[in-house]
Amino acid sequence: MVLVAFGKPLELQEFPIPEPEEGEVVVEVLASGVCGSDVHMQQGEDPRIPLPIILGHEGIGRVVRLRGRKVSVDGNEVKEGDVILWNRGVVCGECFYCKEARQAYMCPNRWVYGIHRSSAKPPHLVGCYVDYLLLDKKTELLKPRGLENMDPAVLVSASCSGATAAHAIEEEPPRAGGSVVVQGPGPLGLFLVAFAKQHGAANIMVIGDASRLGICKEFGAAHTFDFQKTSAEERAEAIRSLTDGRGPDICYEAVGTARAFEEGMQLPRHGGAYVSVGFGQPGGTLTFDPFAHLVRPNRRFRGIWVSDTGHTITALEAVMAQPELFQRMVTHRFPLEEANEALEVMRTKEALKAVLVK
Ligand code: ZN
Ligand code: ZN
Repeated sequence: MVLVAFGKPLELQEFPIPEPEEGEVVVEVLASGVCGSDVHMQQGEDPRIPLPIILGHEGIGRVVRLRGRKVSVDGNEVKEGDVILWNRGVVCGECFYCKEARQAYMCPNRWVYGIHRSSAKPPHLVGCYVDYLLLDKKTELLKPRGLENMDPAVLVSASCSGATAAHAIEEEPPRAGGSVVVQGPGPLGLFLVAFAKQHGAANIMVIGDASRLGICKEFGAAHTFDFQKTSAEERAEAIRSLTDGRGPDICYEAVGTARAFEEGMQLPRHGGAYVSVGFGQPGGTLTFDPFAHLVRPNRRFRGIWVSDTGHTITALEAVMAQPELFQRMVTHRFPLEEANEALEVMRTKEALKAVLVK
């Protein structure tokens, strides 16, 4: 399913299945997640997108052909017929960020399936909204034990929102017994809630749309705030009263708007942290008072951009440990040919998570 023009429906096109070269792998895509950022890309709001393009950066697949010996990052030999997941981003492994800084997610040569490469040039099939995908030889493959027995639709979120949430948690982990606020109960926010729970946060609070607050409680939230029915001031006051007047240790932003940032950055207690994870593309600007918002409260501000292979493994393990819980996140399933319907239910937010399935 190919995006040929911004704001237009994807088109069904046919391509030859590529022959893998040394180190490459062809997979039959079993499930492809429709990410909230795919909707922005379709609308032309993401500056990274070349046209025409096959969207889809969250995939899981069955190996149908490969050339050469391939070993997954988790140390298992990969053979034809195996089910694998992979890091959606491919990095060079040579630069300062890959080798010295050990921040591969910052690699200037990083490219992502379904985001950076056009379908106009061979091998064409480099986004996950396809029947068959060619994995570049530098792609890091994951094949944990038991992956083939799981529902592929439930696993795909681990490769984007799950991995990015794991990155945020690694950079700014919640304290056991501590308090956190999560802004935005989409897949990213739900992973943040699940990881905060895993770290032993005692008081997890979520701000968001009423229709999604119920599932937040299932994931471990103690308190939720309906974004429509309360004002920012009312929420701030309620959150302070639930944290002995101080505010939470950490507030994670998973919305991607300046308005959410403006509210959230003022919530963490003195000495706490504000962690912004939700901006996949520009989301506006705001007024910032360094004294009042940053220095006097001695707050840490963290920006989180994408993720690396370790984060993907952390997220995949979390989903595989609690498949019934993460199953609830997948509200809509469509066949590949109905990718436009899937994008639409993501755009209208009718779907929490839509997945294209075989
Ligand atoms: Zn994504
Ligand atoms: Zn690099």
